[in-house]
Amino acid sequence: MSQPAHSALIDGQWQAGEGAWRAVHNPVTGEVIAQVADASAEQVAAAARAAERAFASWRHSSASERSHWLGRIADGIEAERTRLQALQQRNNGKPTFEAALDVSDAVATFRYYADLCARGEGMTARDVPLPDDSVQAELQPLPVGVVALIVPWNFPMVTTAWKLAPALAAGCTVVLKPSELTPLAEIALQDIITATGLPAGVVNLVCGAGEVGQALLAHPAIAKISFTGSNATGQRILAAAGPRLQRVSLELGGKSSLIVLDDASLAQAIELAVGGAFFNAGQMCSATSRVLVARSLWDRFIDGFVAAAQAQRHGPAAANDTTLGPLISARQRDGVLARIQNGIGRGARLLTGGQALAGEGGFAMAPTVLTDATHSPALWDEEIFGPVACLQPIDSDAEAIQIANRSDYGLVATVVGGERERARRVAAELNVGTVWLNTPQLIFPHTAWGGFKHSGLGRELGPWGLKAFQEIRHLIHAR
Ligand code: NAD
Repeated sequence: MSQPAHSALIDGQWQAGEGAWRAVHNPVTGEVIAQVADASAEQVAAAARAAERAFASWRHSSASERSHWLGRIADGIEAERTRLQALQQRNNGKPTFEAALDVSDAVATFRYYADLCARGEGMTARDVPLPDDSVQAELQPLPVGVVALIVPWNFPMVTTAWKLAPALAAGCTVVLKPSELTPLAEIALQDIITATGLPAGVVNLVCGAGEVGQALLAHPAIAKISFTGSNATGQRILAAAGPRLQRVSLELGGKSSLIVLDDASLAQAIELAVGGAFFNAGQMCSATSRVLVARSLWDRFIDGFVAAAQAQRHGPAAANDTTLGPLISARQRDGVLARIQNGIGRGARLLTGGQALAGEGGFAMAPTVLTDATHSPALWDEEIFGPVACLQPIDSDAEAIQIANRSDYGLVATVVGGERERARRVAAELNVGTVWLNTPQLIFPHTAWGGFKHSGLGRELGPWGLKAFQEIRHLIHAR
């Protein structure tokens, strides 16, 4: 068992956490792989103050300097790809191809913002044309200040990169709090960042759970909180930020649909539905756990999709034939299984799965497919966050649109169809932040990420992700 002697990075120095020790598990086997100490309240405050001190000079760094640092971080991650990938697999149980994608995504995100900085796009002052010749206006993008980045366990490092890279690009300094369930890759990432020579205090790290997060956002130095996680926590953060009007960005949950139109390729529809439901063991805010299938394809889709679900292979994360990882914890798995039972009690029909897989001693469960789940709020309306797909036949495009939009959330949707214009017409009616047409769930740093309604506030990635860490000042002066 590895035991990081340090878990708090404050002002460029590693410290031992002064709070309680917390066991970190390998979800494939259930074994404890590390003990990580929480930060104490004093350490959280020290991290915020260190970021505040560093802000005084980092805010004045030039866009090209920031480009240099972001590029170096991307290089550092790339150089440590093997170690980071292994950590993602040990701490998260991800199959090899999924862990490799996570590292690539983090690298791509740092490179994207390095490039944006190199071009100065959205970072440097620019003139604003005015209808009055006697005055001149200049728009000045400024960093918002010291930011708290609070991230979940399902894509550690990726979610962090989506926040950290634009925050640094904007000229903010940072205190990062990873999930208490998956701190290992984030701790390794800080080592990489420190090794680049980035000025001390620009990035600080504290470990721990909700109390550490609360202490962080309560610190007066924190100007903004960027949070990814559950809606319950997001609402708490928004409420806590209210009295001090701290800026808040929230990336929260989803309840998304994959729509199979009647002119879709059946093979492609099944392949995309498998990815949408079972990638990362369904522990994705973007999981398409509602699968709406044109009635003319319904019987054949069910047969093909159930067979594909049954063909998913659990096993050691690093084994070549493993396609489906475990859930992150026994608690998460048992919660998903309870949802399934609850749904069955309300008339849902189980086609496959629905049980834990105890074989390796970890937190795996069988990929699960149900139909007739529309009367089960636990399956049909709420986020499941496990490898579960609920299938429902549809009789028209209009019905599919109506069902997909009938949700408190609005994060993503997938449309699978033959005729491009028709599929685009369906996409145009969906109240979500991202629609994939006949593609897997591709996410590029160039496109915005975020959702409508209860899926969050604001957008990450692209120039929008940068703006989330900026204030705007206008200078208006006489000619
Ligand atoms: P969570 O809300 O329990 O925890 C997320 C983070 O917040 C963790 O670091 C946790 O320690 C911290 N936290 C918990 N309580 C806190 C508090 N009171 N104050 C401050 N910080 C606190 O979420 P989770 O279970 O780790 O993650 C799963 C959730 O994340 C799902 O609902 C999923 O949809 C969502 N998610 C959304 C996106 C997106 O981009 N929209 C991406 C990934 C995950």
